[in-house]
Amino acid sequence: MKKTKVSTIWLSGCSGCHMSFLDQDELLLELAKKIQMVYSPLMDIKTFPENVDLTLIEGAVANEEQQNLLKEARKKTKILISLGDCAVTGNVTALRNAWSDSDQAVLKKAYMEKSNKNGQIPTDVPKLLKKVRPIHEVVNVDYFIPGCPPPAGVINYVLTELLAGKTPNMEGRSKYG
Ligand code: SF4
Repeated sequence: MKKTKVSTIWLSGCSGCHMSFLDQDELLLELAKKIQMVYSPLMDIKTFPENVDLTLIEGAVANEEQQNLLKEARKKTKILISLGDCAVTGNVTALRNAWSDSDQAVLKKAYMEKSNKNGQIPTDVPKLLKKVRPIHEVVNVDYFIPGCPPPAGVINYVLTELLAGKTPNMEGRSKYG
């Protein structure tokens, strides 16, 4: 049986959504019979592959590197899922948007004001976007799984339905926070 190629991406989030993915526990064994992981922070693969069937995205888009990876993943993926409140709404990652110059303000706060001595803003890190954005503001999203983190059971439900060629019914399953 041909396996469904699945990837997961970690943008600006706390990794809690990936932990929830792993919290599927023994249900992962059932999934493993049907899917082949082809890209993930859980694996050591540097380049996003071609012809991915399904990609789950954790985290909001906060810098140019993430924005580029997200656009590449969208081009190379059939079904793209926004996973967790940071991906769906921006959530805590987007708190810096309250500052008008949020990209500069957060760098100054982290590297200068909180430094005991010789604080300096690094130049070798990806350029921050002016505003943190949820996934659907950058690319088209096929399905949303909110939650902080999304419950493992809901992640498993959505994946199981999609692998069966069905459309997940999120009524009563979508919960923020
Ligand atoms: S939605 Fe919650 S658990 Fe997921 S990355 Fe954001 S803060 Fe972490």
